[in-house]
Amino acid sequence: MRRFFIAGNWKMNKTGAEAVELAKALKDKVDGIDKVDIAICPPFTALVSTSEIIKNSNVQLGAQNVYWEDQGAFTGEISVPMLINAGCQYVIIGHSERRQFFGETNQTVGKKLQKVLDSTLNPIFCVGETLNERQSGITEKIVQQQITEALNGIPKENVSRITIAYEPVWAIGTGVTATPEQAQDVHAFIRNLLTDLYDSKAASEIRIQYGGSMNAANAEELLKKPDIDGGLIGGAALKADSFAEIIKTANSL
Ligand code: PEP
Repeated sequence: MRRFFIAGNWKMNKTGAEAVELAKALKDKVDGIDKVDIAICPPFTALVSTSEIIKNSNVQLGAQNVYWEDQGAFTGEISVPMLINAGCQYVIIGHSERRQFFGETNQTVGKKLQKVLDSTLNPIFCVGETLNERQSGITEKIVQQQITEALNGIPKENVSRITIAYEPVWAIGTGVTATPEQAQDVHAFIRNLLTDLYDSKAASEIRIQYGGSMNAANAEELLKKPDIDGGLIGGAALKADSFAEIIKTANSL
């Protein structure tokens, strides 16, 4: 049985003080929830301070990006040991905003995945098609390419530590959500692909989150689908109330 995993991607939001306030409020609201894995992914500048707040709670910490070298002349980058030292258990890799605005490719995403899987951090690996790609009928082709290219060389022993986030780009931050059926179709496609690339055991262990305007009102029907194992949540994770509602919904299913 896969446990639900609900993660909040705060993107480039919240100063240090605001982040601490949100983390405190969330921690109180989800206290005692034990059937769902919960993570928040604040900006780098708030990792250490929020990690202090959620220490010994059921809320875990993730970062939004990482580089594949440990240290050196890579101005502006953050390494895996730095994230672990800051208290992270997770890191988002290949978010569509990184692909769209910062030139990330399936190859750089793959290098980051390899590096993270060689450490104790667990990756949340994002894939998803643009509106144009969906309208052209190539959603599966795009998602297949993103997954096969980035997972190239990653051994079976490591693959179940990956959470895949299926995030249709047209649904991120737009208020337009994929229907539960649209999301389930792609999630099932991904699980079949993982069976082909690895085996059915590995495919059945990997969690696949849905991301794209998930909120307290639409979470239940999405999370009821058999291959949807949680959510990667942007906008609705910026308020403790709405994020906690989604977590409580998952806990009730
Ligand atoms: C995201 O950033 O991964 C995301 C899904 O954002 P939103 O929930 O705002 O669409």
